[in-house]
Amino acid sequence: MSRSDRPLFALDRRTLLKGALGAGLTAGGWPLLCAGPARAQFKAFPFSLGVASGEPAPDGFVIWTRLAPEPLTPSGGMPPAPAEVTWEVAADQGMQRVLRSGKASARAEAAHSVHVEVEGLEPGRDYFYRFRAGGAESAVGRSRTLPAPGAAVSQLRFASAGCQKWEEGYFTAWRRIGEENFDFVVHYGDYIYEAAAAAVDDRGRPLSRVMPPDFGPCLTLADYRRRYALYKGDPDLQAAHASCAFLPSFDDHEVANNWTADADPKKKPLTAFLSRRVAAFQAWYEHMPVRRSALPRGPDISAYRAFCFGNLADIAVLDTRQYRSHRACAELFDSCKQAEAPERTMLGAAQERWLADILRAANGTWQILAQQVLFSRLDWRFFTGHGGAELELRMDAWDGASAGRNRVLKMLQETRSANPVVLTGDLHRGMAMEISANPDDPGGPCVGVEFLATSISSDGDGSRNVRNAEAIFRQNPHLKFLNVERGYTRHVVTPARWQADFRAVQKVSTPGAPILTRKSFVVEAGRPGLVDV
Ligand code: FE
Ligand code: CA
Repeated sequence: MSRSDRPLFALDRRTLLKGALGAGLTAGGWPLLCAGPARAQFKAFPFSLGVASGEPAPDGFVIWTRLAPEPLTPSGGMPPAPAEVTWEVAADQGMQRVLRSGKASARAEAAHSVHVEVEGLEPGRDYFYRFRAGGAESAVGRSRTLPAPGAAVSQLRFASAGCQKWEEGYFTAWRRIGEENFDFVVHYGDYIYEAAAAAVDDRGRPLSRVMPPDFGPCLTLADYRRRYALYKGDPDLQAAHASCAFLPSFDDHEVANNWTADADPKKKPLTAFLSRRVAAFQAWYEHMPVRRSALPRGPDISAYRAFCFGNLADIAVLDTRQYRSHRACAELFDSCKQAEAPERTMLGAAQERWLADILRAANGTWQILAQQVLFSRLDWRFFTGHGGAELELRMDAWDGASAGRNRVLKMLQETRSANPVVLTGDLHRGMAMEISANPDDPGGPCVGVEFLATSISSDGDGSRNVRNAEAIFRQNPHLKFLNVERGYTRHVVTPARWQADFRAVQKVSTPGAPILTRKSFVVEAGRPGLVDV
């Protein structure tokens, strides 16, 4: 059925009255017409932003949609009234064997988004879901519950992905993720980019897609909502969301470039930046398939959390932005004593204690730290130039808070974490690294591995050729792979080994490029380090 064929219900006052009266909602003899959600007539197909699922548990997951018949307008084309949305979860893709169903109210206060926490399902199974509103029907999404706690599991297949600057490339990598039928996707952040519409990119190259000219920088809730609507209107991204659950997290661009805790590096007044955080987190919540526990409270959001994949993996999703120390040193690439101060942190004290507890309780084979910015030390001298005399560390990454990193390394050792795997993004490069027990000795014994997923589209068409590659590898002996193509990392995890495949699309300046595996590494359980395959 094409979108224009879908029946649209007109606002039916009699149905409305009956519903309100039937529910006994009267005051002074008058039905409370505004008390319950109303069936509304939509100006166009209301499920224009697709569907999504996330936060899988052994007995359920969150299903999400947002009613937006005119997605790029500030209201999404919805009146301020609530609208009723019905949802169904079925055992089959044809939605014949419906197992759970219900009604939810899409409210203007949350941009007419709907987050349903589905419960009572079986562990380790595929399910399908869809929504209806005003006579229109959404696409059908697939999701999968986690295995039962402690269950013996033979395999986990998932993707790690993020950095999807809309104007810099097509979301072909999302399309390819959608074709992989993953257990879930770990999204490390940079789901949107907050900058104003431009005609060319930072390097003066033409953009693959041009944002509407009235898209200024995201500062208010309306700005962030419109930005998410632009991104979520993309059919490739919708296909990925419909294919499996996401574990969303955020990095800097969901709020502002390189922000740290209560400040952005442009040193705007504190109040202005916190107001921006209120708007940014509200819009993030509205557009992500996350639980009610992630509903922001003013400028604060609770985003670090843990998942278990049977007895195979324990997953800690970290928040490396909200509680970190302010940027150290004078430049983004720099080195100075301040970066090594013992009080510096990326997680904050409470999250550090929480992570230690999670690692202590972990009994899976693999311990996954799903997070945003580079964990390992990396000397950037040959990335940024031709190798000056001074060490150049990226102050926006864990190198800017080495004491905080040392505390996490100590935790991994003290809790006898058998097989730590750190997942990262942010750098728009694919990278594989061995995590040194002593970051000052990058070639020394390693305690685990770090896989950086490259960007979905940020920085536009990539290349296999890395400038100064030989010098970069010489300077960084723990770095085993470096690539600047666009794509994602596919992880295939079993009790005996972890395989990471660096997946690359050949082009993002035009849609529909094929995908290939550029490089694979294996980690054997119990033997930290990368094995070339
Ligand atoms: Fe990015
Ligand atoms: Ca980033």
